[in-house]
Amino acid sequence: MAFYSDEDEQTQGYLFKIVLIGDSAVGKSNLLARFARDEFYRNSKSTIGVEFQTQKMELDGKEVKAQIWDTAGQERFKAVTSAYYRGAVGALVVYDISRRQTFDSIGRWLNELHTHSDMNVVTILVGNKTDLKDAREVSTDEGKALAEAHGLFFMETSALDNSNVKAAFETVVKEIYEIISRKVF
Ligand code: GDP
Ligand code: MG
Repeated sequence: MAFYSDEDEQTQGYLFKIVLIGDSAVGKSNLLARFARDEFYRNSKSTIGVEFQTQKMELDGKEVKAQIWDTAGQERFKAVTSAYYRGAVGALVVYDISRRQTFDSIGRWLNELHTHSDMNVVTILVGNKTDLKDAREVSTDEGKALAEAHGLFFMETSALDNSNVKAAFETVVKEIYEIISRKVF
């Protein structure tokens, strides 16, 4: 089976490993901080990055745990270790809508993801920092088109405004859950 999931014996629930990738400073750590703790760091450094954060959700009355991994600064070297990707069933590939260069890197991050993990990893393309309206360099349509070309989900977010953050993570978790449910029954 292509998908990896840990059965949690106590809750009969699922544990899904989800990775955050994308260039440095696109807002990966803040998306996770916002989603898991409803916090935001204005001048965050890679040092705030935790290894992973586990977030509980309920789907169909079942408890689902998303174990979300943050790169903790590894991406500054334009790559992260293969251990980071191991066992991942979901990915958020993030760029900053106010820095085109981070959007141009998406193809490289998708290649890296597919080199190190299963082709079926549920992936969403995330254009972060929509609050920076005046500095926008990548249009919503461009983001959408790239996502469509690669068969990815797509969402624009703001970790600062807390816009679409929960929705982006939930899109991935729900899709993984649906795929696994279909395969089990
Ligand atoms: P990472 O390197 O991808 O983990 O990025 P960080 O989460 O550390 O964020 C890098 C910088 O961008 C920090 O100064 C954050 O405060 C800022 N940042 C993150 N998300 C947003 C956002 O949605 N809007 C704005 N305006 N700034 C953000
Ligand atoms: Mg970070």
